[in-house]
Amino acid sequence: MRSIPLLAVDAMRVFDAIATAKHAPRRARMRAARERVLEAYEAYEQAAPEVGDLNEAALTDHQKEAMRHAFTVETAPMTDLRGNLLKRVSVARCPFCGISESSTLDHYLPKEQYPEFSVFPKNLVPSCAMCNTRKRDRVLDEGTDVRLFLHPCFDAIPDLAFLTVRTRMEEDALVLSYRLTRPAGMTVRTFQHLQSHFRLLGLADRYRLMGLEHLGGQYPALRRAYGAGEDAERVANKLIEGAEDFEEAAGPNYWLAKLYRALAANDDFCDGGFEAVRVHSRPQ
Ligand SMILES: [Zn+2]
Repeated sequence: MRSIPLLAVDAMRVFDAIATAKHAPRRARMRAARERVLEAYEAYEQAAPEVGDLNEAALTDHQKEAMRHAFTVETAPMTDLRGNLLKRVSVARCPFCGISESSTLDHYLPKEQYPEFSVFPKNLVPSCAMCNTRKRDRVLDEGTDVRLFLHPCFDAIPDLAFLTVRTRMEEDALVLSYRLTRPAGMTVRTFQHLQSHFRLLGLADRYRLMGLEHLGGQYPALRRAYGAGEDAERVANKLIEGAEDFEEAAGPNYWLAKLYRALAANDDFCDGGFEAVRVHSRPQ
């Protein structure tokens, strides 16, 4: 979960370029919808990040089809937009999860329900395939009306610590469990918003698994820090240093920063328990 910068691009210029690149019937339909799409863009910008209850634009069925087609059947300007959105280093890692590579564009407001935002750059969020698939076409919680997912381009991720991970050694295995806790000073509504994002994207499980995978790669460094003198404090210090680097780069709630902090405080792990993360994958 993290905020990303908006792409500096004129949304109507993009719209016009895509319309011009389309064949005649769809070009005409997009141009006929232009006024309403422009209004919808303005409403989106005014409401953001609370875009969950925007009215749908009054487009004809043909116009809606043309708008979706503008995204799904790519023209050169749409390919350029996709490339420009995805090629930025700042979004290379999926902002919804903070785990995987951004390989797709997620429509924050789904194009089925809101075809007017089908090629709106501010509605297109670089995303990994897993998050994009899990998010589906959902926007609002029907019971509470809270938006189900963070909008990485508009929602500010709170600096208060809300992500925690428990680490414990069980027999010779390291067990991780991630969860969210509401810090003092965070409203219930903000917390509900974070919780649904976390739950629906399956982040507890994904952080747990990728955390163990990550630690496997760190094993040699942990082993070196421990050294022949079996210095648990050096292991803890190394983990704290790593946590500080992660926090500086990605904020206090970054899942790897949390993991490093928790492990640094786990005496059993630092005192040789890290052997549990060693990967025995090479043939002996
Ligand atoms: Zn993701």
